[in-house]
Order: sequence, then C-alpha cells, then structure tokens
Amino acid sequence: MEALKPDWPMTPYQKCLNALFWAKVLRGLPDDCWPWQGFTKPSGHGLTSLQSLPIHAHRKAWILTYGPIRGADICVLHKCDNPVCCNTSHMYLGTRAQNSIDRWTKPKPEYRTSSGRTRILTDAQLEQLWKMRREGATLNECAAKFGVHIATVCRYITLLRKRAVARFHADRVSASQK
Ligand SMILES: [Zn+2]
Repeated sequence: MEALKPDWPMTPYQKCLNALFWAKVLRGLPDDCWPWQGFTKPSGHGLTSLQSLPIHAHRKAWILTYGPIRGADICVLHKCDNPVCCNTSHMYLGTRAQNSIDRWTKPKPEYRTSSGRTRILTDAQLEQLWKMRREGATLNECAAKFGVHIATVCRYITLLRKRAVARFHADRVSASQK
C-alpha cells in the first residue's frame, strides 16, 4: 500500500521516513483500528523513534499526518481506547490532565482481564464478529449486534487481525520448511 500523504510539505528524506513508518502499520478500512506491527510497550503503545528519540507510534502517526505538535503538554489521545492503533481518525489532541481523566473513567479493575483490557465477548462471539466483518458489516452494526461500544469492537478487530497475521506467518514458515 502507498504511504499516506501528509498535508504538510516534506523533503524527500522525510517522505522516505514516512513510507518506512506506514509500512509497519497494518492499515485496514478507514474506520478500522490500524495496529502498529513493531515493538510495543507493556501498556500496549507502539514504540518507535523520531529524530533519534523514542516516541509512541500513534503520536508519530499524528505528526506525520498533521505536522509537528505545538505545546509540550499536548498528548495524542485515542478515541478508540486502543493504544496500539495508528489510525489518526481515531485520535484527538488533549492535555495530560485530560489523559488522566480518560484513564480514570475507563473500566474498573474487576472488569478487566490480566492484560488490563475489558473482556466482554466470548470466543464464539469473536468468530461471529470476524465473519460479520468479512461479509461487510460496519463497526456500528457489529457493536449493535453484540450490545457493546464501538471502541470494544475496534479492539477485538485488532486482536483478531493480529491473530490472522500470526497464523499467516506461521503457515508461510511451515510451508517453506516442507
Ligand atoms: Zn483505533
């Protein structure tokens, strides 16, 4: 897939960096979560570098799309509550204070799994969800069907796609060993 064209002028060197960055993002449909395929921190955030300094992958996605962020206190926050997501349409700019408010209003510990994420759907439901998406159902339709928030659907889609990619790679490895 072609690298996303940012709406700010770039030098050829920046264009190259831009292409390298987006090659590590599994981009799906415009309203899907686009998971970072590189290194992730225990918090789930993708980690990469910008001008030799470490940076969250989603923050870099924002900068590459919209240009430098002015103000040291400005965070790039996820509407989809999916830290690995690099789809800039799922992000908004906010302050650190807003970031911690968001964190405190997220699900309580007893509703979280050991990974810190809310688990609502069963494996059978996940399979049904995957099938619906393949058949072209929108995220809204999926969310309505299972009675969950659209962000939850986004998160599961990311998980399912990661699993599918892992299986695809495993198949390729086993095929090449035959
Ligand atoms: Zn997302």
